Amino acid sequence: MTPIDYTTLRGELVDSVLLLPGDDGFEESLHRWSTLAEKKSAAVALVQTAQDIATTVKWAVRNNAPLAVKGGGHATSGSSSIEGGLVVDLSKMRRVTVNVQGNTILCEGGCIWEDVDMAAADYGLAAVGGTVNHTGVGGLTLGGGYGWLSGRYGLSIDNLIYVTLVLADGRVVKVSRDENEDLFWAVRGAGQAFGVAVEFCFQAYPQPNPVTAGILAFKTERMDELVDFVNYFHEELLDDSSALGFGFTAPPPLKVPLCFVVAFYNGKKEAFDAHYSKLLGLEPVMNTVHEMPYCQVNTVLNDQGNDHGTRRAQNAASIQMPLQRSLFRKTFNKWQEFINSTEGTNQSALLYEIFSQEKTCEVPLTATATVMRSPKMNVSISTRWLTDEQDQVCLAYSRSMSNLLREEGGGAEGNFEAYANYSYVESRPRRLFGANYNRLVELKGKYDPKNVFRSWHDLSGTKDVKLFNQE
Ligand SMILES: Cc1cc2nc3c(=O)[nH]c(=O)nc-3n(C[C@H](O)[C@H](O)[C@H](O)COP(=O)(O)OP(=O)(O)OC[C@H]3O[C@@H](n4cnc5c(N)ncnc54)[C@H](O)[C@@H]3O)c2cc1C
Repeated sequence: MTPIDYTTLRGELVDSVLLLPGDDGFEESLHRWSTLAEKKSAAVALVQTAQDIATTVKWAVRNNAPLAVKGGGHATSGSSSIEGGLVVDLSKMRRVTVNVQGNTILCEGGCIWEDVDMAAADYGLAAVGGTVNHTGVGGLTLGGGYGWLSGRYGLSIDNLIYVTLVLADGRVVKVSRDENEDLFWAVRGAGQAFGVAVEFCFQAYPQPNPVTAGILAFKTERMDELVDFVNYFHEELLDDSSALGFGFTAPPPLKVPLCFVVAFYNGKKEAFDAHYSKLLGLEPVMNTVHEMPYCQVNTVLNDQGNDHGTRRAQNAASIQMPLQRSLFRKTFNKWQEFINSTEGTNQSALLYEIFSQEKTCEVPLTATATVMRSPKMNVSISTRWLTDEQDQVCLAYSRSMSNLLREEGGGAEGNFEAYANYSYVESRPRRLFGANYNRLVELKGKYDPKNVFRSWHDLSGTKDVKLFNQE
């Protein structure tokens, strides 16, 4: 096969830069949040406009160049990088415009949530984004997206008014309830497989009051009581103002296993204290809870092992509530065995995410591509390690933890098996998209018959198994 001459793309770009190996900034552009996801691309187009994105996509198709799109760079699967291929890198496209008349936010496809949270706050507004503000708006939204405000306003995609998308044939289209409705259905949960999102328009909401949030750490001896609290919280307290994550990790410097709760309340500290009084009564050994403006809340987890630049894999499973003490302990024991036997993995964590699904489930399951509309809760399996020699053992742990939760937590039942944005390890698109899979495959055939956008979950209908980091 003749090698692809990427330099010819350079001359076609009007406002954007093409980086090739050896160019200033090329190596830097290959970095991802997880070093596991970094690959040696042949070229990186640092795009600035929809037109240059369209030119790049058309050029890639014409030249048979494998393509990947990079938003915030947080996918641990490597779906935003490509070995020997061309990356459409959106990191220069981070403009945010707030429209105070309609409380809407227009943001470019390379924004991270910090850009949106801060711009919205200038006008007393907030949007439904993720709980860690350096994640990308692009990947998070196109896969569904949820955060602290989801109990009140639903998923990020439920607040999406329109997206401007560059399709596989290079057309630039507006996709909304009224224009290209079938694509609007597909991008709300599986957008990564349908094009490059140039800009998103979101509904935002007034957020006049401060919120209260933080991390409470507990000795593991409290585990059963904490599980009981989490079930009580789920039954009696969970509402559109509150949400929590519950799990375990062994943070530095002591690296002693701890249970922890990251708790959120959309209100003042006194209201938080009243809402979580039973939890506070369990004698946390550390408590960082404090009142803050909403735009700060998505920084609370930033420094909790979520810094950039180490080897990590994210994986997931969904579980039925109530959470069983025995299952929680089993996952804890499995994790502890893993961190004790694998050097430098102590910051690996499990997080059972207890968010109200009421608003999310008001939208019918087949109304958008995501099937993440279920009373089941998501569990985030976060594995962190040091070197590439440890990759196989760490990925095997991540996979087997996901299997354990799926088999014993009831995750395989119903339509929602795991969050598509978390699950990459041997995830099967048919299972991830359940009732919506066939329609997705059909639309994929209509809009991307050559499967140009295939680095995320492959929806061509020809592959039902995607192995971790598979090319
Ligand atoms: C620390 C951490 C915290 C997280 N917290 C949350 C959370 O609170 N809520 C939640 O819902 N998820 C959360 N996630 C998961 C998150 O949704 C995914 O990791 C998501 O893929 C991140 O998107 P990105 O743009 O940063 O990643 P990338 O790696 O840049 O992209 C991921 C995928 O999306 C595609 N993509 C990105 N931008 C675009 C675009 N503009 N157009 C077309 N395709 C695009 C890429 O091609 C790739 O396939 C978290 C992840 C991490 C690592």
